[in-house]
Amino acid sequence: MQMSEQRFSELNLSKEQTEKVQQGSPLLWPNPSYRSDAALSPEVALIHQADARLRRFSSVLTALFPELRGTDGIIESCLVEVCSLFQALNHAGGRLFIKGDHQLPVAGSIKARGGIHEVLHFAESLALSEGIIECTDSDYAAFLSEPAKTLFAQYTVAVGSTGNLGLSIGIIGAALGFNAVVHMSSDAKNWKKDRLRKRGVQVVEHSADYGAAVEAGRVQSDADPYSYFVDDERSPHLFMGYAVAALRLKAQLEESNIQVDRDHPLFVYLPAGVGGAPGGITFGLKSIFGEHVHCFFAEPVQAPCMLLGLAGAPHSEPTPVYEFGLAVDTDADGLAVGTASQWVCDVTRHLVSGVYTQSDDTLYRDLERLKRLENIEVEPSAAISCSGVEMLNTNSGQTYLKRHGLLDKMESSTHIAWLTGGSFVPAEEYEKYLKLACI
Ligand SMILES: *Cc1c(COP(=O)(O)O)cnc(C)c1O
Repeated sequence: MQMSEQRFSELNLSKEQTEKVQQGSPLLWPNPSYRSDAALSPEVALIHQADARLRRFSSVLTALFPELRGTDGIIESCLVEVCSLFQALNHAGGRLFIKGDHQLPVAGSIKARGGIHEVLHFAESLALSEGIIECTDSDYAAFLSEPAKTLFAQYTVAVGSTGNLGLSIGIIGAALGFNAVVHMSSDAKNWKKDRLRKRGVQVVEHSADYGAAVEAGRVQSDADPYSYFVDDERSPHLFMGYAVAALRLKAQLEESNIQVDRDHPLFVYLPAGVGGAPGGITFGLKSIFGEHVHCFFAEPVQAPCMLLGLAGAPHSEPTPVYEFGLAVDTDADGLAVGTASQWVCDVTRHLVSGVYTQSDDTLYRDLERLKRLENIEVEPSAAISCSGVEMLNTNSGQTYLKRHGLLDKMESSTHIAWLTGGSFVPAEEYEKYLKLACI
């Protein structure tokens, strides 16, 4: 399926950028719609509501997941400086940190905050309407009671996923007593399916891509009034759950005495699939740091769906990567998405600084470096965030820095590679990844 010249010309891509996308060559695409002074919608208040909801449930989560005892039921990851990795990369100064979502408890990936928030939101609404709790100040121990379990057992929570969102929704859904159904795309790894089945989650395997798995799940779920569908392509509850990470990061930066202001810019590199997780985090970070934070999305050269989505006209359907002759052929299963979420593109169009793409070879190079230099184990999707600092050295990266008056601020800059998943990867799978890095 090739695209007509006319549709190409509707995208905000130069001829050279178009060719690079078609050829599957890495590039940094600075987003022409980026506005450093973009106003945020009043919906920012929803981030705080999501944060408050996660806190209301902290005792319930601790009871369900003993691994959360140490953090009083808050699911959060560490912020760690990675000096050796930074030295190995070709960069322009400053400091590099990783945000360790690969170790997020319960779900093992960035999907923990968003996915768990959405299921808790559904459980809370149901509990309020069915009288399990009277109000949000009630004792949330009621969520662990028999009447709550009987109520939730009548309902199904369903989702379509390339793997990690399914893990997150399946694990929390089943733990609360819902029937959980996960529609997995062809990219999903077998170990992720096995892990879910062991927890009593129903896994429906699809031979088609992520978009098709979501669509099939949506249709099946919509036909059942007792089924709730977590719609990864259009979900404010997921998005706001992801955005909560920004509030937490702010506190971590303060604890580490890291300033973010005009003279201390912050660069954040976020692996992107359908766009919800990186979009939500960008939305949250922009609400806190405004023009001083620069958020770049990272995608495999074979699946640059957010790049094409953001390059499209506002409120237009995102262009599928297939129209560029690409095949979503990547080992980064968390990013193996052919068409971006239109909703996320519209919410973040002016907030995202740019998108870079990377070949799987580079993901494996960085996966191996993280292990050798920092003893950090991640899945391929997460490793794509490490090369963000290098992409700033490309011509388009330098043009971005110049345009925003950042060239002389790099020494005092802070960079965060968001490591989005990995701790659940079985040891033998991880060994295979390491071997691929050495070929
Ligand atoms: C899902 C996922 C992402 C991207 O999130 P989207 O909401 O799909 O953009 C990045 N990394 C990993 C490991 C993921 O599982």
